[in-house]
Amino acid sequence: MFITIEGMDGSGKTTALQKVKEHLESLNYKVIMTREPGGVQISEKIRDLILSKSGEGMEPWTEALLFIAARKEHLEKVIKPNLEKGYIVISDRFMDSTTAYQGGARGLGVDYLNNLQKTILKGFLPDLTLYFKLSFEEAEKRLSNRSYEKNRLDEEGKKFKEDVKNAFEELAKKEPQRIKVIDAEKTPEEVFIQTKEVILEKIKL
Ligand code: ATP
Ligand code: C5P
Ligand code: MG
Repeated sequence: MFITIEGMDGSGKTTALQKVKEHLESLNYKVIMTREPGGVQISEKIRDLILSKSGEGMEPWTEALLFIAARKEHLEKVIKPNLEKGYIVISDRFMDSTTAYQGGARGLGVDYLNNLQKTILKGFLPDLTLYFKLSFEEAEKRLSNRSYEKNRLDEEGKKFKEDVKNAFEELAKKEPQRIKVIDAEKTPEEVFIQTKEVILEKIKL
C-alpha cells in the first residue's frame, strides 16, 4: 500500500505523519515513512540543489524536471522495493506537489504535468492520497511560528501560494477516488485522528 500526503507549506503534513507512524506501528503494521523531494541520497542532493536557490534562480521547467528526476530515483530505489517487501510506504509529498507547485503556481499547466508524470512513472500511482486543506492565512500564521529554518517557498507571495492551493483543489476534484481531503484547520490531535481513520479505512478494505 502506497500512501502520499500533500498540501501547501505549513498545512501540518509532517506533524500529523509523525503520530500516524507511531500509531500504525502500535497496531503492528510494517510502515516506512519517506519524503519528497528526497528520500534517497541522489534525490536529497537534488533537493538541496533546488532549495538552495543558488545563483540566478531556476527556470520553471528546470525545477519541474529536477523534481521529477528525484521522484524517479526515489520510486525505483525506495518506494517500490519496500512495497515489494510488504511495507506500507507513506511519502510526505509526491507527484501532486509537482503538479500543484510547478504545474499550477509556476504556470506549466496542471493537466500537462499530471499527465506527463503519469507517463514517466509508467502509470504508477499512490493507492491513497491525503490532501491537507488549509486557508492561506492559517498557513502563513503557522509558518511564521515555525521554530526551525524556513523553506525557500515561505518567501513566495500570496498569489503563488493561492495558485498552489487552487491546483491541489482542482486535482482533488478530478481524482476523488484517490485523493481524500483532510480538514487541516483543526487541532493537531483532530488532524491526526482524521488522517489515521482515512488510512485505516483504506488498509482494511
Ligand atoms: P511543509 O510543507 O513546509 O513541510 P508541513 O505541512 O509539513 O509544512 P508542519 O511542519 O507539520 O507543516 O507544520 C507547520 C507548523 O504548524 C509547525 O510549527 C507545526 O507545529 C504547526 N502545526 C502543525 N499542525 C498544526 C495544527 N493542526 N494546528 C496548529 N498548528 C499546527
Ligand atoms: O515539504 P517540504 O518542506 O519538505 O518541502 C520543501 C520545499 O519544497 C517546500 O518549500 C515546498 O513548497 C517545495 N516544493 C516545491 N515543489 C514541489 C515540492 C516541494 O516547490 N514539487
Ligand atoms: Mg513538512
